[in-house]
Amino acid sequence: MTQLASTEWTSSSSRAVARGGAARGCLAALDDEAMFCEFISEAAELSGYDAFATVDPEKFLAHIERCPPAVIVLDLCMSGMDGLQALRRLADEGVKANILLGSGADSLALETAICLGRAHGLNMAGIIRKPIDMDALRGLLESQVQVENPLSVARLAAAIAGGELTMHYQPIFDLRANCTAGVEALVRWRHPRLGMLMPAAFVPLAERGGLIGVLTDWALAQAVRQAAAWRRSGMTLKIAVNISNVGMPDERLPERLERMCADADVPPSAIALELTESAAMRDPARAMEMFMRLRSKGFDLSIDDFGTGYSSLAQLQRLPFTTLKIDRSFVTSVLASEANASIVLAVISLAHALNLICVAEGVESADTLAFLKANGCDFAQGYHIARAMPAKDIAGFCAADSRT
Ligand code: C2E
Ligand code: CA
Ligand code: CA
Repeated sequence: MTQLASTEWTSSSSRAVARGGAARGCLAALDDEAMFCEFISEAAELSGYDAFATVDPEKFLAHIERCPPAVIVLDLCMSGMDGLQALRRLADEGVKANILLGSGADSLALETAICLGRAHGLNMAGIIRKPIDMDALRGLLESQVQVENPLSVARLAAAIAGGELTMHYQPIFDLRANCTAGVEALVRWRHPRLGMLMPAAFVPLAERGGLIGVLTDWALAQAVRQAAAWRRSGMTLKIAVNISNVGMPDERLPERLERMCADADVPPSAIALELTESAAMRDPARAMEMFMRLRSKGFDLSIDDFGTGYSSLAQLQRLPFTTLKIDRSFVTSVLASEANASIVLAVISLAHALNLICVAEGVESADTLAFLKANGCDFAQGYHIARAMPAKDIAGFCAADSRT
């Protein structure tokens, strides 16, 4: 191991190879503690890497641009640039390395950072807990094999075109009529190698990679086709489709959706579009125009995850929503938290005062369902009623509505 300056350490795999180790490629480490840089550099050399470790974020980024590493070791809590900022920079650079996060932080912070890294499309390969044990660290470094992140934008585009995406539908229950009134369409990716992937694993990738318009069009086409099929078998379920809050849908959406419905003989009132507060509030003038056109054509508009964004109530009143969905973070624990109960009651009143239908999401127990019903909420959705399921199972579910 060689110390280049007071901020950098390098080590060469040739020394490891000379001692009988394997050459594993380059490893780059960033940590604001010099002692850790020295330690990782030594472990990397013993494990057969050409290592570069530094306390300087700019030197680290310059180095990985020069020599793309197979493995990156990144400290989560640093002064200067924190680990989350560094992850974003690595994602922007399209880094393919396996990333090991090092930290003395609590597990929750580490897990959140790993989820964030994955959402950025990075190969999050493991955690190094401080204080570090040399043997454990070497075991981890030696087990790293270069795996391409299989969820690239190109792979997702091919999956959409090749029919690997599928829609599941979660029932939305009418609390007054005691029956299933509609469903929310929730996309899944049937990945041939990784199995069924949930939207969190690939919707952010579509949003970042410019594919969200394609995904939204696919989702709307599925919903319209499914609404037509259900109508032919006598089921008049309303289908809600999620519209991403990244970028406004393109201006021709209202006409395109209207045509899709006309071609399939589905009335626009059978389709609801779910948008979040942030989408509506980012560009209120454009949002207002688009929503007005969709409403005037007869589509329903729901405000999704209500209570988690920042909205001006005046704007909320002016936008032509038909439905308000209370975010599940308030609903799930409505009986365990007085504050959440107050919020849910206030939102039900607000919805009704604005002439909106109120849907509670995240209903996970019979008691919660009873609370919502007793307090005038109109619709409920959640695991207690049913999880999202393939379209073919919905008819059977609706037939058994009378049990609820
Ligand atoms: P969302 O719009 O808030 O959808 C509801 C999510 O909550 C679904 O997760 C659903 O399975 C889950 N959920 C339902 N009931 C319960 C419950 O009782 N408890 C708990 N803990 N969770 C419940 P899912 O399917 O993983 O979807 C996650 C998010 O992905 C959706 O959140 C939506 O924002 C997005 N998404 C799903 N499908 C699409 C799509 O086709 N297009 C776009 N742009 N986004 C989509
Ligand atoms: Ca939704
Ligand atoms: Ca929601």
